[in-house]
Amino acid sequence: MQFKPTIGLEIHVELNTETKMFCESLNDSQETHPNMNVCPVCMGHPGTLPVINKEAVKKVILTGLALGGKVAEYSRFERKNYFYPDLPKGYQISQYKHPLVYGGELVLPDSGKKIRIRRVHLEEDTGRLIHEGLGSGIKSEQVSFVDFNRAGVPLMELVTEPDISSADEASEFAEELRLLLRELNVSDADMEKGQMRLEANASLDMGTKVELKNINSFNALRRAIEYELERQAGILKAGKKIVHETRGWDDAGQKTFSQRRKEESHDYRYFPEPDLPPIEVYGDDELNPETLKLKLPELPRQKRARFQKEYGLAAKDSALIVSDKGTADFFEKAVSELLEWSSHDKKPQALKLAFNYLISDLQGLVKEKELPMNDLLVSPENFAELIKMILEDLISSRAAKDILRVMVEEGGDPSDIARERGLNQISNEGALEEIAEKIIGANPQAAADYKLGKENALQFLVGQVMKETKGGANPEVARETLLKLLK
Ligand code: ADP
Ligand code: MG
Repeated sequence: MQFKPTIGLEIHVELNTETKMFCESLNDSQETHPNMNVCPVCMGHPGTLPVINKEAVKKVILTGLALGGKVAEYSRFERKNYFYPDLPKGYQISQYKHPLVYGGELVLPDSGKKIRIRRVHLEEDTGRLIHEGLGSGIKSEQVSFVDFNRAGVPLMELVTEPDISSADEASEFAEELRLLLRELNVSDADMEKGQMRLEANASLDMGTKVELKNINSFNALRRAIEYELERQAGILKAGKKIVHETRGWDDAGQKTFSQRRKEESHDYRYFPEPDLPPIEVYGDDELNPETLKLKLPELPRQKRARFQKEYGLAAKDSALIVSDKGTADFFEKAVSELLEWSSHDKKPQALKLAFNYLISDLQGLVKEKELPMNDLLVSPENFAELIKMILEDLISSRAAKDILRVMVEEGGDPSDIARERGLNQISNEGALEEIAEKIIGANPQAAADYKLGKENALQFLVGQVMKETKGGANPEVARETLLKLLK
């Protein structure tokens, strides 16, 4: 028995504005001291009035435009009423009937499949509850703290149509969306910091859907959906009914668990927020979507296509570079520098070298040291110079890796580093001959072995020359020089 999976996503994103959604309190995700960024407005004191943060509205419009959605001519905020200790006003200002953006689509990069967007709206985040055990033994107790730094932070909610048909597609959607949000600079979208939060709805054969929460990584999203689809299939095969409910993802147990029966929207008693005017963006110079549309940056999809065309990258290599904005920016700067230097016939080789050194060597060091790609001691210009030195046979690939490590750790110009550390390649035969003679003199056994036909012995001698020159010799030239001397 095969069932057809249907999946829709609801994604909350904290916008990276200076201040909160309806007041002047700072929106600072780095703040670690609780209840520092609060004021009477976001604490829900009586007599205070909210004011709409234009920057947040603009970021939602940009997101909507990038997705090809429609920006509403008329949109407004509503109150969503419920009690929870992290919600000081007893209601959340959200949008319901009139979202800021509706429609649009996101194209999945691998398959080209289009996932329709239902709506993108703006609301405010809640505070944070921290549960802790205090004391020990008979005096121990469970206590909960409330941190309101996050209360009132602008939150964008994006809802897809149920167009997704597998766990892989769902995570592909979420990853592509994160990339887009970062490119637009609307959010840092760091999942570990809760700046991007995923919820999935899943059903089989368009039957009763189950909502999945507590998902804190792309991997968890994939696993939660896979688990849930299997669980539902088991229930249907047994001839039983799926319960309409919200289930949480238990990452440690790798399973979903029932949290509550699904509440209905009428339970929240939504009504128009009386303290805020409607949002009419077309009449506002700073927010007019027609103007903002012209300011959209290049989107990930376009960038991938351009990198393929302009730099001759394979589709998967282009996707790899573009998957991180810092890496893409770095590559582009380094390559434009490099292409200015290289003669026409060396361009493909230069691009290939730059790609390889960026993806394996530089990224390897960056990961090892947990450095931010957009703030390295290695400048793209210096990186390009290093590639140029390899291309021109001034340094060996061994030396290039050592130089790159120094550049990452201490910064500096690759040609200075090569000179200071004696890493310049000795491809000049005359200079090598002296060294080769010395090596043969110091290893008479190996020299004799080679003359008796042991090829390995020559390899050993080449190795000794390389060691003596600290990797600075060109191994090919070293080999030829040794051969000549051994004849
Ligand atoms: P509700 O009214 O229960 O919140 P909505 O129709 O508003 O449901 O949809 C909420 C989310 O559920 C959307 O992301 C939508 O794509 C998704 N969804 C709708 N129908 C289904 C379904 N049959 N299976 C899976 N997801 C669905
Ligand atoms: Mg919401």
